[in-house]
This record gives sequence, C-alpha cells and structure tokens, in this order.
Amino acid sequence: MSTLPEKPPQDERIDMRWDGWGDPARAHGLPGGVKLLLTAVLGRTPAPPPGPDLADVTISTPPLPGDDVAALAAVVGAEHVDTGHDVRLLHAGGKSTPDLLRRRHAEQAAPGAVVRPGSEDDVAAVLAVAVGRGLAVVPFGGGTAVTGGLTPDAGTHRGVVSLDLRRLTGLVALDDVSHEATFHAGTTAPAAEAALAHRGFELGHFPQSFEFATLGGFAAMRSSGQNSAGYGRFDAMVTGLRVVTPTGTLDLGRAPGSAAGPDLVRWFLGSEGTFGVITRVRLRVHPAPEARLFDAWTFRDFAAGADGLRRVAQLGTGPTVIRLSDEEETAVSLAQVGNIGKALTRGCSAVVLHEGPADLAAARREATTRVLREAGGRPAAEKLAASWDHGRFRAPYLRDALLAAGVFCETLETATTWSNLRALKAAVTTALAEGFDREHAKHRILCHISHVYPTGASLYFTVIAGLGTDPLEPWDRVKSGVNDAIMAAGGTISHHHGVGADHAPWLEQEIGATGLRMLRAVRAELDPAGIMNPGALLGDTLG
Ligand SMILES: Cc1cc2nc3c(=O)[nH]c(=O)nc-3n(C[C@H](O)[C@H](O)[C@H](O)COP(=O)(O)OP(=O)(O)OC[C@H]3O[C@@H](n4cnc5c(N)ncnc54)[C@H](O)[C@@H]3O)c2cc1C
Repeated sequence: MSTLPEKPPQDERIDMRWDGWGDPARAHGLPGGVKLLLTAVLGRTPAPPPGPDLADVTISTPPLPGDDVAALAAVVGAEHVDTGHDVRLLHAGGKSTPDLLRRRHAEQAAPGAVVRPGSEDDVAAVLAVAVGRGLAVVPFGGGTAVTGGLTPDAGTHRGVVSLDLRRLTGLVALDDVSHEATFHAGTTAPAAEAALAHRGFELGHFPQSFEFATLGGFAAMRSSGQNSAGYGRFDAMVTGLRVVTPTGTLDLGRAPGSAAGPDLVRWFLGSEGTFGVITRVRLRVHPAPEARLFDAWTFRDFAAGADGLRRVAQLGTGPTVIRLSDEEETAVSLAQVGNIGKALTRGCSAVVLHEGPADLAAARREATTRVLREAGGRPAAEKLAASWDHGRFRAPYLRDALLAAGVFCETLETATTWSNLRALKAAVTTALAEGFDREHAKHRILCHISHVYPTGASLYFTVIAGLGTDPLEPWDRVKSGVNDAIMAAGGTISHHHGVGADHAPWLEQEIGATGLRMLRAVRAELDPAGIMNPGALLGDTLG
C-alpha cells in the first residue's frame, strides 16, 4: 500500500455560475432544434425578466457578528472566514430548478459566514465553536444539491455557518493490491478520477453533476452515477468513512466484510450533513478499463425495453451503463442532437456500454446482445450512443437556456421493483399531467431508466412546461402532488437525489415513525445541540 502526503495540494476549482449551472464560460443558448420543438409543443413561452446581478441582491439574513467571526478565525485563520456579500450568496443553496428560480429574487437568505477548514482538527474545532456560540453548520461540498439540503436554515440557532470543504482535498492513500483508495471528502469527482488515472485506476462514479460535486457530497447524499450498472451506486463503492461529529470522531469500515454488529458506515451514508461532517471516504476502485464498447438499441415500446433491461440485470451480463428512454424522451433526444423531424428511430432507444479488459468486455457485450435481442430489441445507429456519451454532462447547461427562454424544466426520480415499475411510471406521469393541467400549463413529460438492479430500477423524469414567468409556487404544488403519488404507488421518495429539506415531509411515510425516531435518537447522541444542518433530512430541529 502506498501512502501519500497527508495534505496534498488543493485541486483547482472554478466557482459555478451563481444563478445557473457550471462553468460560466460554457453557458450556451437553445439549439435550433429544441426551439422548434418547444414552440410546437408549448407554444410561445414569455421569457422572464432577467434576475438581478449578484452584486445587486439584498441579503435578508445578517452576516455573523465580529465576535463569532473572531472565534472561527482563531481556528481556521482569518483568510478562511468569509462574510463577504458575494461569497455568502454563492453558498446560499444548491442547483435545483427552484434554487435557480429563487436567485431571480431581489432579496435572498444566505449563511452568515463561509468557513473553510484546512484539516480534520479544524473541522472538529469549528463544530466546537458553533456549539459554544449557538450557530448552525451546513457542510458544503460541491454545492450541487437538488433537494434543498444546502438551504441556510438556522433552526433554533443564532446564525448559519456554511462549512466549505474545498481545502480538504486530494488522495490520501491508494492500496493498489486491495483496490481501495482513501480521499479527503472535499475532493471533486474530476480531481479524484485524475488522481486515480495517474495510477492506472478509476472510480467510475459519473453522475450528471460529475464536474462539480465532491466525494463527501456523494456519500452524504447516497448518489448514483451513470455507470451504476457496472460499478454500483456510490454507497456500494464506500468501504470506510471518517466522520467528525460535534461529540466525537468515528473511523468506520474495518474489513471488507464484517459481522461486528450493524454496519455503522451505512448510518452515515445518506445522513446529509445532519450527523456530522464526513472528512474522509475510502472507496473501492478498479483498473482503468482497457475497452469501452458502446451500443444503441431500439425497442417497440417502453414495456418491451424495460423487460430487456430486467433480463440483463437479472442474468448479470455485466454492462457498465444500461439506460432506456421512453417514447417521449426518445423523440426529444433526437431534437437535441439537431435531428428534429428526421426519425432516426421510433419507439424507445437504449444506450449500453460494456467496459473492462478487452476480451471480457467483448464477452459481456455478446451476452447482453443475446438477451436484448430475445427481448425484441434491435441494434440502432451507433451515433445514438456516441451522441449520449458526448452530451452526457451538457444537459444542465441546456436547463439554464430553457429557464432563460421562459420554459420551466426540472427533473425528479424514484425507484421500485420491476413488477411495479409500469404502475409507478403511470402514477407519476398522471400526477404530473394533472398537476400541470390544474396550473393551465402545457407540458411534456419525459422518462428514462438509468439505474438497474436484479429486483427493480429507477425512473427519472424530466418535465418541461410553460408555467409562466414565476413558476416557483405552481411547481411546488405540482411536485407535492407527485410526491404523494410516488408514496401511494409504492415508490421511494428518492432513488439518488436525497431528502434534503424538499422531501423531508415525506420521509416518515418512507421509513415509518419508528425509523424517524431512530434517526432522531442518533442525531441527538452525536449532535445534542442540533447544530448540524437543521433543515435537512429530518426537516426539524431536535424533535
Ligand atoms: C445538474 C445536476 C445533475 C445531477 N445529477 C446527479 C446524478 O446523476 N446522480 C446523483 O446522484 N445526483 C445528481 N445530482 C445531485 C447532486 O449532484 C448530488 O446530490 C451530489 O451527491 C451532491 O454532492 P456535492 O458535493 O455537490 O454536495 P453538496 O451539494 O455541497 O451537499 C449536498 C448535501 O450533503 C451535505 N454534505 C456535503 N458534503 C458533506 C460532507 N463532507 N459531510 C457531511 N455532509 C456533507 C450538505 O450539507 C448537503 O446537505 C445532480 C445535481 C445537479 C444540479
């Protein structure tokens, strides 16, 4: 095992656009094909007035007073405590569509200070200061949360510290025999992949937020990436964690398998910053794949395609990626690659990727091909797969362009068993359609399967709608109806976006009153003052 320096150099980060997604230099307008399609299905959508410039926003919550700042500065150094207007607003929330719509408001809430700890000792000392001075702490990784988990909610406390983990970054150790890597939790996904690639390894976690999200954020949210069929969800990759809580530090994950009581690592996966701060993540990694074999498929309809994916997952033929777009999404994807009106395919399209050593990847591909053919699939133009691969991280930029053009666009997701999949899809589609109809909004509902298991799959919906120039409240009403429908139809409130503040009201239906009491009891033990992210997950203070 090779041990690397404790404090590797910081990874270079660009701050995302504060009122949109990603690298400001890569923002773009609407492709012509999408404009045509939108006018055809939604009619003309009035563009909203532009939001205020960052500098012109009034912050409704005060900065932390000087004595709090001095106490925090005594721990991390004055240069790492920021109460500046712009920095506070850059930490005022995540990147869901409602988050972005709120950025159009002239007055907004923000944390009282942004603190950047440089070590695990700093983290523990900041938490101690926060407990002593009655301040809430919201851990901040990449800032890509989409369920309200970064909302600067002080709960019963005097103010909010945003604990930005960008200085806790880099590879700590790589065990190239056991295929395990330990990272500081603030490492971004691209920085992690770059460090591993340097040593011939790969993590293989590619959520659509890949370019900006952090390993700690993935663990805190139980993220799932596009290669989950091959390498598993992020929580399946985690073999160990270090967590600093207000009452002590835990080092968890001693062996690859253990019967030493309940698995405490799992208690922190999905804890969303409410139990403590994840400072190190130990992960299963694999040799960088030698071969990457892409295929595209078409199916007569969604039911046939889903059946094909089920058979592949249950037989375990081993694709790295396998995803199926429904009829609506297949049609709209064609518009995105500039092929509107030119039917490349009908029905539903699927993209499949096999990776690994060349001979193994080829054998897996052959096995998957046989299964998909038996399920009625037909090979399709390879450019469908190439186009998906090429554009896989571009969709969030497209959302910005849609919002600017007055088109509401948001995503939501759930999961269930194969036997319940079609019923859940129908229930969510109906709830969305009825919700938009009540708001008198023309809409389009797209759906895909992108994460499969032997027993079931996720459903990921993208909605576009003409909700008017102020869509926040109407969307809240639609989304609330959809969440009710998901619970009634046996789905989970989230397959990978997490609970945050937005889904907290539905958590009890998911895990029951006893489950909620267990989570509260753990939090009360680790964080008796209730300073850790009071608004997220449990959606209340000590309770
Ligand atoms: C455009 C877009 C696409 C996305 N695609 C996907 C996808 O494909 N798959 C997927 O799973 N998710 C996706 N997401 C959601 C999001 O990227 C994930 O939830 C991700 O795990 C968040 O990581 P982060 O580092 O940005 O965390 P943040 O957004 O900074 O924080 C998320 C939550 O975790 C807490 N937290 C962060 N770091 C720590 C830590 N070290 N210790 C304790 N708590 C912590 C925060 O307090 C917050 O509650 C997407 C989001 C966007 C905006």
